[in-house]
Amino acid sequence: MILTKLKSDPDVDAASSALPKRPLDALAAADGNPEKAGLHVLARVSPAQLPPPRTHIVPVGDWLEFVSYLARKHSIAGDPIASLRQSKNNRLRELWALTDLSATDFADEVATFFGLGRMALPQMMEAPSLAGEFSRRFLKEVAVFPCRAEEDGSPTLVVADPTDPAPVHAAELALCGPVTLRVGSFEDIATVLADAPDENEAPVAETATALPQRTDDIDSLRDLASGAPVVRAVNDLLEQALESRATDIHVEPLRKSFVVRMRIDGVLRPVPSPADVLPQAVISRIKILAGLNIAERRLPQDGAAHLRVARSQIDVRVATMPTQYGETAVIRLLPRDRGTLDIAKLGLSVSGEQTLNRLLTLPHGMIIVTGPTGSGKTTTLATMLTILNDSSRKILTIEDPVEYEIPGVNQSQVKPEIGLTFASALRSFVRQDPDVIMVGEIRDSETAHIAVHAALTGHLVLTTLHTESAAAAVPRLLDLGVESFLLQSTLRAVIGQRLVRLLCERCKIERPVTTQLLAEDPRYLMLGLRSGETVCEAGGCERCSGTGYRGRSGLFELLETSDDVRDLIGTRAEAQNITRVAARSGMTTMFEHGVAKCRSGTTSIAEVLRVTTAR
Ligand SMILES: [Zn+2]
Repeated sequence: MILTKLKSDPDVDAASSALPKRPLDALAAADGNPEKAGLHVLARVSPAQLPPPRTHIVPVGDWLEFVSYLARKHSIAGDPIASLRQSKNNRLRELWALTDLSATDFADEVATFFGLGRMALPQMMEAPSLAGEFSRRFLKEVAVFPCRAEEDGSPTLVVADPTDPAPVHAAELALCGPVTLRVGSFEDIATVLADAPDENEAPVAETATALPQRTDDIDSLRDLASGAPVVRAVNDLLEQALESRATDIHVEPLRKSFVVRMRIDGVLRPVPSPADVLPQAVISRIKILAGLNIAERRLPQDGAAHLRVARSQIDVRVATMPTQYGETAVIRLLPRDRGTLDIAKLGLSVSGEQTLNRLLTLPHGMIIVTGPTGSGKTTTLATMLTILNDSSRKILTIEDPVEYEIPGVNQSQVKPEIGLTFASALRSFVRQDPDVIMVGEIRDSETAHIAVHAALTGHLVLTTLHTESAAAAVPRLLDLGVESFLLQSTLRAVIGQRLVRLLCERCKIERPVTTQLLAEDPRYLMLGLRSGETVCEAGGCERCSGTGYRGRSGLFELLETSDDVRDLIGTRAEAQNITRVAARSGMTTMFEHGVAKCRSGTTSIAEVLRVTTAR
């Protein structure tokens, strides 16, 4: 039933007078002075300008009738009328809690019963906000959102509880005239209020010394982030990432929306962003998962978590950063179950595999894997450790982060905040009597010195360096202050690597190399291909999400420290010289390995040229 009546005085309304008065019911008693009633009203609204109060028609329903209406259609826990009579505020919010309806479904029922129009979150976000005319605390407390109607700009009040007359009166006073009522869900109203800039608050200073955020804002952010739609949206993203074998999820806010991209096979790809959730709610949810401070939105933060997504266990690392439209978050996914590490999966050539196996039989010395970030160094190192991992060897690692868990290997993670760095861990490792030591990366002179010292004193040391080529590891270590004679006697081999995407077997397209093609496209000549050969290029099908690629494999160059190379270390030769000398004695460069993979049709020339350069 819908009660529409001429409101002469709200206090004669039987339903509301039967219940304890709410603080804002006192508005009428406050001599029409909204400030007394806890309202923030702009100065231009003086009592003299106030509209003749309560002379227009607002639809009002009876909450008791709504309870019985709802009880007929849905299950309601306990005796709602008895429990709601006790409550001072937010009767309908408590009624909603007694049902198992979603916020949206509940709002639909409210709108239907009270004969009011509905307003969904996207409409509220689009509508010009009038929230600046009120105190934000008040609007949140009574769950109303004032705005202008999109159609004609008339004042509109989106309410979650139309049985509450106080906010309607307050809005009419503050907006100097009648308002149209629309129904919004409790969640949507909270969301739009949390999102809209609060004009009452002093602008936050652009420095890190700005005042802390108001606690109610943080609370509402926390509430928002723990709301079912946001939790579901973040879970969906994680599931989708696992399904598509993504290694990272990037969440980046725009002015009103946000973009989500996933790194799959090393390349970023946009995915549809979750609908009807706010960017900052999603970011807050991610921050809560990673144990970050959601109140801190002005400084970058890093965190980690162990999560259960679908049926998989994953470790995630989260890094947030402030940008002009809010915070961005990057989630690195490290699935626990990453399949078995197998030397055959690395993508080495037959001779490369033999060389690597031979190197791993060495009792001591240093083996370095080089390449930029995301070139697969960690996987190669972890595979090498798996081969070395038997009960006869004690293996210690210091990593950042631990990406592969290898049972039987003592793995530790750097924690610079407590002084556990690559260098400090390495220094204590040598006292633990290990056979094999793995250092995630050599970044500084101190780590380089200790690693070389450990290799010299009878340990097999495995590590990585960020260098362009295998040979470039030599000048890099010399630059870090390692004595050339120490390097000569400890360095056993350097493995340079890149990752190329593999062509999708189902849709790759064969392309015979013709004289015409060689003349038109210089890339074929760059790779040294000849007329009559056949290569493959990317197609696109459902299996590879239209990219033409699926999976990745390594391109390797294995530089062994031969006598010639050792001499060059002694003369502090440049990387190019070392590469040239090593190639003369049979080393295949990453580029040449890539060309071989093009010829065998496993990858494309575009991929090889993307990750390598001819030297
Ligand atoms: Zn395909």
